[in-house]
Amino acid sequence: MATITFIGLGNMGGPMASNLVKAGHDVTVFDLSKDAVAALVSEGAKTADTAHEAAKGAECVITMLPAGKHVEAVYLGEDGLLAALPDGTLVIDSSTISPETARGVAEQAEARRIPFLDAPVSGGVGGAKAGTLTFICGGDEDTYNKAKPILESMGKNIFHAGDHGAGQVAKICNNMLLAILMAGTSEALALGVKNGLDPAVLSEVMKQSSGGNWALNVYNPWPGVMEGVPASRGYEGGFLVNLMNKDLGLAFDNAVKNHAAIPMGSLARNLFELHAGQGNGTLDFSSIQRLYKPE
Ligand code: NAD
Repeated sequence: MATITFIGLGNMGGPMASNLVKAGHDVTVFDLSKDAVAALVSEGAKTADTAHEAAKGAECVITMLPAGKHVEAVYLGEDGLLAALPDGTLVIDSSTISPETARGVAEQAEARRIPFLDAPVSGGVGGAKAGTLTFICGGDEDTYNKAKPILESMGKNIFHAGDHGAGQVAKICNNMLLAILMAGTSEALALGVKNGLDPAVLSEVMKQSSGGNWALNVYNPWPGVMEGVPASRGYEGGFLVNLMNKDLGLAFDNAVKNHAAIPMGSLARNLFELHAGQGNGTLDFSSIQRLYKPE
């Protein structure tokens, strides 16, 4: 078992840190939100007043933060953690950020002999709670092998996508596809309902047909069709529209840099931006269904 510091206890990081505690690791947590910290402490984690104090004595530091600027703020600069961590401390960042930012942090970590892995996740809050996340890692083989047993306490599928930044590239591709299929699923459900179909029946039909997909299987966007998903609790919790927009922005920027055409991804980005602009930024991303007026 390892001594682990976990920073960023939001919708994803909270349940991920909780699974590390349950697996028997010695976990110290830190977040700007006192409530988030208190929840983990009640489950057996330790805490400290600052990220630096929390990281003292850690064999491994894991971050799960909203965006690249938060990751840079925690790790870089004179006040950043990289300047304070001892050589050899394993650092894993599971936030979804740009491949360039991940490579930049990795470069500075390596200069200080700190092994760094970008390890963004897929599987949503449900996967974080169940400990069945997919981790998509970028970094060298040695670092990946060191991190794998720790990641296995929080996830089921652990992939090594390639060198630094590769985890983020794969994650960005995945989330662009997720946005496209969630918008497409919402559109198909709305069309069926306009024709008088029961959304639950239509969902079951499409699930067992060639339109079957992850949204229909585990994250149905139509209110009341599936229990325990954000659509059935007013789209609260889950994966926020604002975070999906961040990821679609990362995909768009990356496509521009690499001269890649992403017409479907661009359309999805515009739909989600429109949706956020209508005051839905802090709802779960499956609320894109509301653009098609189900309620
Ligand atoms: P969240 O907004 O719920 O949580 C982020 C947490 O980080 C908050 O508790 C916040 O207080 C904390 N934080 C911010 N800056 C901090 C700092 N400087 N020091 C300490 N704590 C700080 O976000 P989330 O939904 O948990 O997502 C986290 C990351 O995971 C994002 O990059 C997101 O894109 C990615 N992700 C989310 C999901 C999902 O379903 N929610 C799925 C896959 C990946």
